[in-house]
Amino acid sequence: MKEKRLRIESRLAQIGSIEEPITGAINFPIYQATAFRHPQLGKSTGFDYARTKNPTRKVLEDASSQLESGDAGFACSSGMAALQTVFAMFGQGDHLIVSLDLYGGTYRLLERILSRFGVSASYVDTNDLDALESNRRPNTKAVFIETPTNPLMMITDIEAVCLWAQRHQLLTIVDNTLMTPFFQRPLELGADIVVHSATKYLGGHNDVLAGIIVTKGKELSEEMFFLHNSIGAVLGPSDSYQLMRGMKTLALRMERHESNAIAIAEFLLTHETVAEVFHPYLKDHPGHDIQKKQCSGNTGIFSFKVKDARYVEPLLRHIKLIAFAESLGGVESLMTYPAVQTHADIPLEIREAIGVDDRLLRFSVGIEHVEDLIADLGGALDAAREEIEGGQ
Ligand code: PLP
Repeated sequence: MKEKRLRIESRLAQIGSIEEPITGAINFPIYQATAFRHPQLGKSTGFDYARTKNPTRKVLEDASSQLESGDAGFACSSGMAALQTVFAMFGQGDHLIVSLDLYGGTYRLLERILSRFGVSASYVDTNDLDALESNRRPNTKAVFIETPTNPLMMITDIEAVCLWAQRHQLLTIVDNTLMTPFFQRPLELGADIVVHSATKYLGGHNDVLAGIIVTKGKELSEEMFFLHNSIGAVLGPSDSYQLMRGMKTLALRMERHESNAIAIAEFLLTHETVAEVFHPYLKDHPGHDIQKKQCSGNTGIFSFKVKDARYVEPLLRHIKLIAFAESLGGVESLMTYPAVQTHADIPLEIREAIGVDDRLLRFSVGIEHVEDLIADLGGALDAAREEIEGGQ
């Protein structure tokens, strides 16, 4: 009889739980070891040196690969380390096509580091196949997508891009940080590589910095194994354990992040200080239908624009339960001001052209009670308006 694959909730809860054969420990132990004894010359337990492979990290890597429907997983010391490892596939003269609205750190890595090694990038709306085609060059090697984009929540049709990329023998790489494999699995839609800042939803508690890469196919997996080991930006065993512990509750957390974010987005639509809400769940969002087609749910991140940039300073001062801080994806709600924080490295003209202006705020909605969050945000918006309008 064919074994039935467990549902994702069960696989998440059981990460590492059935893999410790010596004691049967429910949680896979932290192997705090960098070197492993060889039984004899020419023999190995499968573990030699921890940069190459560590037992705790391996359980995390196998689980990540399985969750993303890939062939191999690689745990890195941060999301940026994961991106650097992936981009190290490219070299002198190679060209990449990259999502226009992009995490600022990825843009900085491409423009200020990869450019030193002769790798160039064109930033395009990856949902526009004509734009992809007109930016394709003979030396183009890959398309890099963030969907939804951070912070503007633009949606790319992953399957359509993968089909286009395959026609031209290009790799498709997807940053799946905002969705997680619980809601979106790009490799099932034809992508070749998935990258995560696991610091965000996978870890989920704002307490571990990590990155994950998952590859599809033998050749690509072997190449990534070589790069991961050679570059050495790998995740330590304690952080690997911490990340797995977070991932066990991913399903529960994502469901709450999603429902809280939808309720708050709907609340903001009714608030008179708010000009626009960018959330793919909303029917008039341009990516609504694609998001529904390719994902089983929505992330807890969305952004919104206030009507007057002067509201921003008092709003950030008045929020109490929601912290003004620069991350996303944790159980605690965080509000970010992209123009001066996450996206400060993107030149002003690019930022303004895509709409990351001084009225835009990004909200990473946590798992607190939604009424408490609405009370905090609504109160801070009212207080901000009072201060600005009252002072006129
Ligand atoms: N990708 C996305 C979409 C991100 O938001 C971030 C960080 O905010 C990164 C990558 C980089 O990850 P890390 O901060 O873990 O290095």
